[in-house]
This record gives sequence, structure tokens and C-alpha cells, in this order.
Amino acid sequence: AAPPSDSPTIFDKIINKEIPSTVVFEDDKVLAFRDISPQAPTHILIIPKVKDGLSGLSKAEERHFEILGRLLYTAKLVAKQEGLEDGFRIVINDGPSGCQSVYHLHIHLLGGRQMNWPPG
Ligand code: 5GP
Repeated sequence: AAPPSDSPTIFDKIINKEIPSTVVFEDDKVLAFRDISPQAPTHILIIPKVKDGLSGLSKAEERHFEILGRLLYTAKLVAKQEGLEDGFRIVINDGPSGCQSVYHLHIHLLGGRQMNWPPG
């Protein structure tokens, strides 16, 4: 089962720079960094700096409208920055059946190879 929505995760340590990551974009609200176990030549995670109960997309409320938009727009900016002019995929895993492993909302940005569909 999913942990409580306010439980800390390893992403808090990444936000606080207590553990290192390769940051590709940062502003006051969002952080984007390279996935430690990349599933494509470009694999970046885009997260809100303040979780505010957003352990996953299924926990979204109306108060999260702005941050949800910012995360998606950041994915677009980072895709351009990474040279993914030819296309990319974004993924949000949610809950045990969605294979979510870190319960702090994150968008996966994947590209640099053909992203087949269905993913299998
Ligand atoms: P999820 O399975 O929850 O959708 O994705 C979590 C992602 O976080 C995985 O792709 C995993 O490789 C990545 N990840 C887990 N721990 C770390 C870490 O300490 N550093 C980085 N850069 N990525 C991590």
C-alpha cells in the first residue's frame, strides 16, 4: 500500500542537497534532475520543491492547480533544453499498480531513443 501522503522521501534530501543529484533545471518552485537509473538516453525527474500532500497525482486537489501546470510546463522547457526536438515521453506512475516507488509527485521525462507504444 502507498505510505501516508506527508511521509518524507529521498526527494526531500535531493531538494535540500543532502544527497547529490545532477540538476538540469531549478527555480523557486520546481527541481529537475537526472534519474539515477535512466531508462532512456535522457531520463529526467521533475518535482515540486514543496510536496504539500502531493505524494502522487491521485492526491491532487484544487490547491495544486498551479504547481501541476508548472511541472508540466517545466517538462516542456527541459525537453527543449535537452534537445528532444524530435519527441519525448512524459510518465507519471501512481500507486502500487502504477509501479510508483517514490511517494513525492514526479514527472518522468524520457527521450533520446524511439519511445515505443504501448510500452509493454
Ligand atoms: P517511480 O517508480 O516512483 O515513478 O520513480 C522513481 C524514480 O526515482 C525511479 O526512476 C528511480 O530510478 C529514481 N530514483 C530513486 N532514488 C533516486 C535517487 O536517489 N536519485 C535519483 N537521481 N533518482 C532516484
